[in-house]
Amino acid sequence: MRTMEWQPTSELIDWGNDHFGKMAVDSIWAPDDSGVQYRKMSDNSYALVFMLNHPMAQEHHMKFTLLMEACGYTMEEPDALETVTPPLDPMAQAEMQYNAKQEIAQSWACECGFPLANNDLEKSKYEYIETVDADTSNGTTVPIDLWRVVIGCASCGQDINMDPDDYHLLAGDDLFMRWNSSTHKYVAQTREQLVDYAEGGAFDEGIAGMFTILGKMRNGERVPPWMWGITSIQTHLPLHEEE
Ligand SMILES: [Zn+2]
Repeated sequence: MRTMEWQPTSELIDWGNDHFGKMAVDSIWAPDDSGVQYRKMSDNSYALVFMLNHPMAQEHHMKFTLLMEACGYTMEEPDALETVTPPLDPMAQAEMQYNAKQEIAQSWACECGFPLANNDLEKSKYEYIETVDADTSNGTTVPIDLWRVVIGCASCGQDINMDPDDYHLLAGDDLFMRWNSSTHKYVAQTREQLVDYAEGGAFDEGIAGMFTILGKMRNGERVPPWMWGITSIQTHLPLHEEE
């Protein structure tokens, strides 16, 4: 057991006051790669609900507890704490973490309480925000296109803006890897799907017209970066699509 005199910095406490305060009661806080998850139990308490069976997870829990206490929250003893032993294989570990994140995404809700996952996600819209210069590890910058996904809440009608990565967790590959321009619908094809088309002869007489590969622009419109270079099936949208 190591003795630590770790204390949260004032910046961290400012961040915690803001972040923990904004979270709705019953929502889950699962910091990336920490091995721990918390549920907000009331306006002034949290409980540990998940912990990876890993020394780092215990250290994180100790630090997060100190941070929450510094922000005025108590850490409740959980009724049932789930501990999971991580697999040794890094691939399996990554998959386990991804699955855990996907599971949490299913519990995200609109401010009105309606679960985001219960909306007709096929109607989600991708919106370009702006291009910013992002720092790279070797000290240069690269332009990055920022996008958001807009979901209309089926219960209260409010538009919910999401980070595309979060939307990907919520909606899964099939719904994420498609894009509607103003005239066409593009649906990304997996390697397995393309193999099936190839086996069926779809490419024998030259590329069939239904397939396309998207670049950064299509017919004067910006393409979401996650669709760049992806083989997709394109279909015309009806001219006057009903909302
Ligand atoms: Zn709502």
